[in-house]
Amino acid sequence: MTDELLKQMEIDKDYTLEEALAEAKRCLNCAKPLCRTGCPIENEIPRFIHAIARGNFGEANDIIAERSNLPAVCGRVCPREKQCEGHCILNRANKPINIGKLERFAADFESEHGLRKQKMIIKDQGKIGIIGSGPAGLTVAGDMARLGYEVTIFERQEEPGGILLYGIPEFRLSKEVVRREINRLKGLGVVFECNTVIGPDKTIDSLFEEGYDAIFIATGTHVPMELPMPGDDKPGVLQAMALLTAVQLHQNGRVGEDAIPVSAGDRVVVIGAGNVAMDAARTCVRLGASKVTVAYRRGEENMSALKSEYEEAKAEDVEFKFYASPKEVVGDKVVEGLRYEVQAPNEDGSVTPTGEYGVIPADKIIIAIGHKPNSRLVGPGNGIEVNKDGYVVTREMPYGMTSRKGVFAGGDVVHKPATVVLAMRAAKKVVEGMVNYCEAKRFLGE
Ligand SMILES: Cc1cc2nc3c(=O)[nH]c(=O)nc-3n(C[C@H](O)[C@H](O)[C@H](O)COP(=O)(O)OP(=O)(O)OC[C@H]3O[C@@H](n4cnc5c(N)ncnc54)[C@H](O)[C@@H]3O)c2cc1C
Ligand code: SF4
Repeated sequence: MTDELLKQMEIDKDYTLEEALAEAKRCLNCAKPLCRTGCPIENEIPRFIHAIARGNFGEANDIIAERSNLPAVCGRVCPREKQCEGHCILNRANKPINIGKLERFAADFESEHGLRKQKMIIKDQGKIGIIGSGPAGLTVAGDMARLGYEVTIFERQEEPGGILLYGIPEFRLSKEVVRREINRLKGLGVVFECNTVIGPDKTIDSLFEEGYDAIFIATGTHVPMELPMPGDDKPGVLQAMALLTAVQLHQNGRVGEDAIPVSAGDRVVVIGAGNVAMDAARTCVRLGASKVTVAYRRGEENMSALKSEYEEAKAEDVEFKFYASPKEVVGDKVVEGLRYEVQAPNEDGSVTPTGEYGVIPADKIIIAIGHKPNSRLVGPGNGIEVNKDGYVVTREMPYGMTSRKGVFAGGDVVHKPATVVLAMRAAKKVVEGMVNYCEAKRFLGE
């Protein structure tokens, strides 16, 4: 039963050909497209929509590829209500163009029909090593490979994709879609060395000795933030990513169902109010939890989760307990509940403790309050300067270079956990810095 539920296909269904054409034809092809202004990577939105409207799907994909290496992913998980679609002029009539779904349609159509053939690229510009294969690493890989660089990505997991593969659940982002995008990069000549942890297995020094001209650190943020409270060492208290990764490994056939830390019938409390909390809560629903409650110390309007994610969680019967600040894990030997203190909202959005307490009965408590970078690779002792919170410090010139010459960084490990498209935008800027650096190196004969 659990497997059946977990294998549920994506909730948001694809457009049919007719639906895509009809939606694309609604676009006004604005002279000053607000949708493009709202897109962090400035995708050529009206141009690709216009190509779809004319039935030229290959051309639509060529246009998207000018700015993005991950269109099928972005078309599914970008917070488009805040970005392109949120800016579309047709919001004035409450009928914005469904840009994400059109991008997804074009990308899927291309993969199914093999519309675009990869041109041969001569790799004579230099050798780039990338650490981490999430959206930031994949973006630098695709752009540098197209510019004629030999690119190798080192990834500690057994399969590339970063959070796209091991974090975002299948019901929001099919892993086959992620694998398709990665195969496209392999077609550009990008080499993936998985099961390789930079730190213990290889080091930045050893990569330079192997002849890499520049290195890009895109290791994201994978150390969960803790929420110390009495009783938090009891079995049944876990981190959201431990759950999401276990589910993904189970779906890949790597671990049995018993490795998933939530079981059918469990009463679950998820602490946090971001997208990770929503993913954990909705995953628990699919695992057959008897009740799932999200506890958050502030109000609905302060949640960082996308509104659509919040609405979908509510539609799936996830309950929300606002103004509940976690204080203690209740239970003798195992978890029996979460004790919280009621908070009173203030006008400025802050909250004040009231001295009133309550308990939410629970068998499992899942913490989803954020992540930070791992200091094994970045930080004191390995020459990569970080700020007080452990994020890598980079420069403006050449853009994205760290305190170590030739070592660049981008994505969540620099900018704090954000979104797929913001990691891509940061990575695209770093590509400019890396190219400038490599060209200067060649000029100086280094
Ligand atoms: C559960 C969850 C749901 C999310 N949902 C959304 C969403 O719907 N929409 C959205 O836009 N964003 C979402 N995000 C945020 C988004 O996924 C991240 O902002 C984005 O993946 C960051 O990309 P990145 O490339 O910087 O890092 P990551 O995707 O974290 O990739 C880092 C990679 O580096 C590897 N690595 C780390 N250390 C080493 C090492 N020493 N050696 C080798 N490899 C290493 C890791 O294994 C990983 O593969 C979500 C995040 C989470 C956790
Ligand atoms: S703003 Fe809306 S209508 Fe105008 S070009 Fe963009 S998607 Fe089309």
